[in-house]
Amino acid sequence: MNIHEYQAKALLRSYGAPVSDGRVVLRADEAKTAAGELDGPLWVVKAQIHAGGRGKGHFKEASAGEKGGVRLAKSVEEAAEMAHQMLGRTLVTHQTGPAGKQVNRIYIEDGSDIEQEFYLALLIDRKTSRVSVVTSTEGGMDIEEVAASTPEKILSFSIDPATGIQPFHGRRVAFALGLTGKQVGKCVDLLGKLYKCFIEKDAEMLEINPLILMPSGDLKCLDCKMGFDGNALYRQPDIAALRDETEEDPKELAASKFDLNYIALDGEIGCMVNGAGLAMATMDIIKLYGAEPANFLDVGGGATKEKVTEAFKIITSDPNVKGILVNIFGGIMRCDIIAEGVIAAVKEVGLQVPLVVRLEGTNVDLGKEIISTSGLNVIAADDLSDAAEKIVKAVKG
Ligand code: ADP
Ligand code: MG
Repeated sequence: MNIHEYQAKALLRSYGAPVSDGRVVLRADEAKTAAGELDGPLWVVKAQIHAGGRGKGHFKEASAGEKGGVRLAKSVEEAAEMAHQMLGRTLVTHQTGPAGKQVNRIYIEDGSDIEQEFYLALLIDRKTSRVSVVTSTEGGMDIEEVAASTPEKILSFSIDPATGIQPFHGRRVAFALGLTGKQVGKCVDLLGKLYKCFIEKDAEMLEINPLILMPSGDLKCLDCKMGFDGNALYRQPDIAALRDETEEDPKELAASKFDLNYIALDGEIGCMVNGAGLAMATMDIIKLYGAEPANFLDVGGGATKEKVTEAFKIITSDPNVKGILVNIFGGIMRCDIIAEGVIAAVKEVGLQVPLVVRLEGTNVDLGKEIISTSGLNVIAADDLSDAAEKIVKAVKG
């Protein structure tokens, strides 16, 4: 689960990390009061969406010369006007995809004097099963681009969970960034606070881009993105409360409410499968036969009729879906239960596209009989390749 920049900054502030003073604005008429509470003489007006690259992004239907989602204002009035201009519009950045994201919240914060911009991130490295630190002198830029063109400018190392964070970790970062004198101690202090926050809040990712060095010699977190482990949210109620559902794919949101593992993809064949491994194999074989999956969907081992119906609704609500492949292995789950679920779902939701069902395992004969006598226009398949071939053929002709 991701949160907004202003929420991440409030969290960092509570751990004593240096961030600017700022106010969040949900309605244009709050902007002037919010900006007036800050000192000036420079205000930064920042669109809050769950995507980076806002500064270099552009609004849909932008007027000539109009700036992106991070703008500098020289007065309270100008800041309020900018907030007014951005609210409700769609911001397109390299991370949102061409559809962009609607801006529903604006963060107005104090402008900072910047001497240098750096990159600093903490993330879970699954290879080492540790928290990794990633840092670079090339801040304020797209880190993927830095990694591709000048990988020598990125320092990355992991932290041993047995010792936890140590001052030498912070010094390693400081020296990589070219910091000297008192700045080194400030960097050690900052990294310690970020690590504490990361661990205590079950974060998955904490990215500060840019971390800045100011003419005063102080460091400040000027931008912050944080993501949290969804499986740990049950013990992080304060983090769970920061969830902004308007930022999430509505289909993925509906799926999470029914405990379905669903990820929307770009293809044309909707898949309903039990088990993550089988779901992956199903996506692979769809590609092998020349089509693309519209989603990953694992209904789980103990899927009920209700879950199957919900899964069906989510798949059919996707306008890109031109055909559906149901691929179920009945182990704990019986094939006849799945067949009944599929038929109930089709009766409830309707069926506008071809549907191929492949069942295997416990009570498979009964399951197949239920499908074939249902009177519904369902194409039965015997094995995985047969199923993939049939659905691709039905969609592509
Ligand atoms: P994004 O990464 O989504 O483009 P950032 O918050 O990183 O958004 O802002 C983009 C750039 O705008 C930063 O690299 C920095 O140069 C400038 N900027 C952002 N916030 C401030 C601020 N409070 N004061 C001065 N400059 C800022
Ligand atoms: Mg940034």
